[in-house]
Amino acid sequence: MAGPTELESSIVFAEGTFRRYGEAKIGLLTHGLQYGTGCFEGIRGYWSDLERELFLVQLREHYERLATSAKILLMELPHTTDELVDITADLCARNRFETNIYVRPCIFKSAEDVGVRLHDTPSSFAIVALPFTAYLDKSKGVRACVSSWRRADDSMMPPRAKITGIYINSALAKSEAVRNGYDEAILLSQDGHVSEGSAENIFLVRRGVLYTPDPSQNILEGCTRRAVMEIARAELGVDVVEREIDRSELYAAEEIFFSGTAAGIAYVASIDQRPVGEGSMGSMTRRISETYDRIVNGREPRYASWLTKVYNRAHAAV
Ligand code: PMP
Repeated sequence: MAGPTELESSIVFAEGTFRRYGEAKIGLLTHGLQYGTGCFEGIRGYWSDLERELFLVQLREHYERLATSAKILLMELPHTTDELVDITADLCARNRFETNIYVRPCIFKSAEDVGVRLHDTPSSFAIVALPFTAYLDKSKGVRACVSSWRRADDSMMPPRAKITGIYINSALAKSEAVRNGYDEAILLSQDGHVSEGSAENIFLVRRGVLYTPDPSQNILEGCTRRAVMEIARAELGVDVVEREIDRSELYAAEEIFFSGTAAGIAYVASIDQRPVGEGSMGSMTRRISETYDRIVNGREPRYASWLTKVYNRAHAAV
């Protein structure tokens, strides 16, 4: 991750222009800060030493999801998806990144007043990009637990949108898990079915079939989740089933893994102190994970359309 000085002097996109992170300030009363009325994205960029290129992953899908999140919060992105793809690549090039990175676009209610609402307030859009390494330690497998916190329900605040304030739900679950000696939390929905990790979607393998909670289980409809389903079907010829999943199916699973932009594909070694399979990375997880890694590092030409090149835009895939 970037150190404080590096971050201060890095270039961000805010209020329609490129400027230094340290110069882009928001006021203490900002609505999005006080009430959580914002939404954001997390996008990864992978640096290839071989090609001397930075590949941004599923940029369009992320910006389309951001547009949907914004719409749910009665906001509109100030740029089209095409413009945002260009601005993001430009931002990364201006920072001269030659390392793996994380890009954080956000749009938030920028009124500086008192009064909770979604209507009648201006919004502000920004993109920050920073060097980034691993989010979960993937080498040793994740020790997960089922959280005592339930996933927020769509009837309360919609997890389908990547909303700033909704991350309280994730943060409560994550900190409870870590303070109890685990690495990650799995949240159940209100009716007790498996929903997702604090910042990842979840998959399990039983008898050669890949299962994942369907979009009505109060999940964020993950970009990596979609990538995993496509890889499993197209490259491995595996059946992928989206359905309600019981808690005990986690204990019965042969393999379990998390998927997410920050986490990548991270296998789960144990759940509630019960080993998953042999407690090591399962073969289907390994094949999916290795294929995903090759794709995001620009080594699978068939999947070039998932990537946006930062430095060689003339040949960039759209
Ligand atoms: N669920 C939650 C709650 C998340 O925060 C994330 C990370 N964005 C995911 C799932 C995974 O989504 P994606 O693959 O788009 O990063």
